[in-house]
Amino acid sequence: MRVDFNVPLNDKFEIVDNTRIVNAIPTIRKILADGGSVILMTHLGRPKGKYVEKYSVKHIVPYLSKLLETDVRFASKCIGEETIEMSKSLQPREVMILENLRFTNDETDNNEEFASQLAKLGDVYIMNAFGTAHRAHASTYMIAKFFPDDKMLGYLVESEINNIDRVLYKGEKPFTAIVGGSKVSTKIDIIRALMEKVDNLIIGGGIAFTFIKAMGGRIGDSLVEEDYIPVAKDILEQAMKTDVKLYLPIDCVIANKFDNNAKIKHCKINEIPNGWMGLDIGIKTAETFTKVIEKSNTLLWNGPMGVFEMDHFCNGTIKIALAVSRSTDFGAFSLVGGGDSIAALNKYGMAHKISYVSTAGGALLEYIEGKELPSLRAIRTRI
Ligand code: AMP
Repeated sequence: MRVDFNVPLNDKFEIVDNTRIVNAIPTIRKILADGGSVILMTHLGRPKGKYVEKYSVKHIVPYLSKLLETDVRFASKCIGEETIEMSKSLQPREVMILENLRFTNDETDNNEEFASQLAKLGDVYIMNAFGTAHRAHASTYMIAKFFPDDKMLGYLVESEINNIDRVLYKGEKPFTAIVGGSKVSTKIDIIRALMEKVDNLIIGGGIAFTFIKAMGGRIGDSLVEEDYIPVAKDILEQAMKTDVKLYLPIDCVIANKFDNNAKIKHCKINEIPNGWMGLDIGIKTAETFTKVIEKSNTLLWNGPMGVFEMDHFCNGTIKIALAVSRSTDFGAFSLVGGGDSIAALNKYGMAHKISYVSTAGGALLEYIEGKELPSLRAIRTRI
């Protein structure tokens, strides 16, 4: 089973956030309960093809053993005779986990020989790593070739897809998407895709300033991607031609430097003086966004409204998190995805108030953009 146990570890190699491991447990338990044995494989961090002690999967083994209430065996090599022997000696209801797949470039190179060696370890292949589903790697794509009739999706991937599909295709209207964050270049495709589906599109965070500049506003030293100004203009024009209501910030919190202790002022979004930068949405904006969110029946949120990591610029993101959770209380279906939005929800203890929290970043965005994820294709068709 390919899992995504790419969890953050601290200096003592302790797991800081266990969400990704916990989410994969139901599928593992199902196999064990049915009398099978499980071989888990994952990547951890970005070791770039060589052994790096801090990225060794061995750090995860004690926690996993505790969670599964069994001694999980650890194979220090992903492939080879020794590991094959270990897999053969596994008894029903036993679990083993392989060392970090990315300690060799064969994994990210989608190497067929490496995939065939991995395939020798098991009888059935299960893809249960939605976080890496957009990557065609040896363990997420090529390996499926060696299980033409014995490959399937795990419960985690299945539920991610069902929940995203529910929002995109079966959601009750009005459907509102909230997109924030820092990089327009990484959000433009999702904004375009969402324009086809939503009733309301709220754009906040650093990405809003490229749109404000495209409308002729003064944005001072705020974040901007000049190359994307024409694209932003195009999206603004498209919104005028369709029924989609596009909401941009009207005011913001500005600072004289990118620092929590900077001098702070409030101003209109299009009148930011030089030497100042917008680091959070303003009070009026938060109120407007909140009203739209609270009238919605389906909500999708990706990306914070400001530099929420700093206490003086987290207000807008908190307000939006509150609005989404209140709307969910009233009966809306809400899906929040992407590392930073989830970190924000966890910081304010609101994750449990959301209908579905997706742990996948890039894979989620690509799925929403309408791209076919290679590892899903590898399961559903012959490759
Ligand atoms: P992304 O990975 O593109 O979703 O961006 C997330 C990051 O955007 C977070 O680390 C925020 O601190 C940052 N961010 C949000 N709003 C702003 C802003 N107005 N200026 C600079 N960075 C921002």
